[in-house]
Amino acid sequence: MKQIQLGSSGITIFPLIFGTLPLGPLQAGLSPADGGRLIRHALERGITMLDTAALYKTYPHIRAGLEGWQEQVTIASKTHAADAAGARLHVEEALRELKRDRLDIVHLHGARIADPFTERAAVLEELLMMKEEGKIGHVGLSSHYIAAFRKAALHPEIEVIHPMINRTGMGILDGSAADMAGAIAVCARSGQGVYAMKALAGGNLISEARQSLAYVAGLASVHGVAIGMLSEQEIDANIAFFEHGTMDEELWTKLESRRRRLRIMEQFCKGCGRCVETCGSQALSMPAGKAVVDDAACILCGYCGAACPEFIIRVV
Ligand code: SF4
Ligand code: SF4
Repeated sequence: MKQIQLGSSGITIFPLIFGTLPLGPLQAGLSPADGGRLIRHALERGITMLDTAALYKTYPHIRAGLEGWQEQVTIASKTHAADAAGARLHVEEALRELKRDRLDIVHLHGARIADPFTERAAVLEELLMMKEEGKIGHVGLSSHYIAAFRKAALHPEIEVIHPMINRTGMGILDGSAADMAGAIAVCARSGQGVYAMKALAGGNLISEARQSLAYVAGLASVHGVAIGMLSEQEIDANIAFFEHGTMDEELWTKLESRRRRLRIMEQFCKGCGRCVETCGSQALSMPAGKAVVDDAACILCGYCGAACPEFIIRVV
């Protein structure tokens, strides 16, 4: 299978990374056994890296998928903690839950943090300390902000970056797809490993999946692309694309016609109202202090998901 160097990190991966977010309670809510079966299928077909986060609650799925697996697997997790103690707890939780002595990559989960180097300086310091202690292999940064990566390029202690990028620029908070591509190209030239997120804009570009994947995978500075996958068919189709550049017309037409809907994990809603303010289609309301969607009015633009500080809105 094709193998790519993740920048200067020393990590080698197959360029399609299994994004585990959709398996967990924020999206499809698969059981650990069912999610684990999909992960195992992907590993058996040649995927070598899994992406997760403290927030995703998919460690049990990964643990199930890796049960008895003897081959090398790179695992990247993320901490959304606001302080050093919280970051340490997240890393220790991941080590315990994944039954590992060391996490290959831990990102500062900075989705909506424009300047993590000032706003989350203590978290970064703690992650670097845990790297010294041998608990983390590489410290990374995930973000939806171009500004964060422009700054990251000047910080060699950040060895891997995980940027939001897709053909339309949807979800990028401070510029266009071209601007983001420019910023991450500088990071790649500085030796940072780059693997992209949201190539399909959280599901909004499913109907144009082929051209959307081709755009992100075709960026010279992108070493890998994390994609959430919920069926063996989808895994196989994506692997064929990343391995051979092939896309079976009939299969992809079927994949691109999947039905989508907006899902809000109401039990985690803090009632802040940011999603309601963001929605230009008046499809959201808060009748009982928690956000509720009117499916008939929702155009699945995904903007409310990007606005939610709790990350509890997804197009699935
Ligand atoms: S996806 Fe777009 S249209 Fe639908 S509720 Fe969210 S912001 Fe409104
Ligand atoms: S933005 Fe998120 S937390 Fe705030 S009201 Fe909407 S769903 Fe709830």
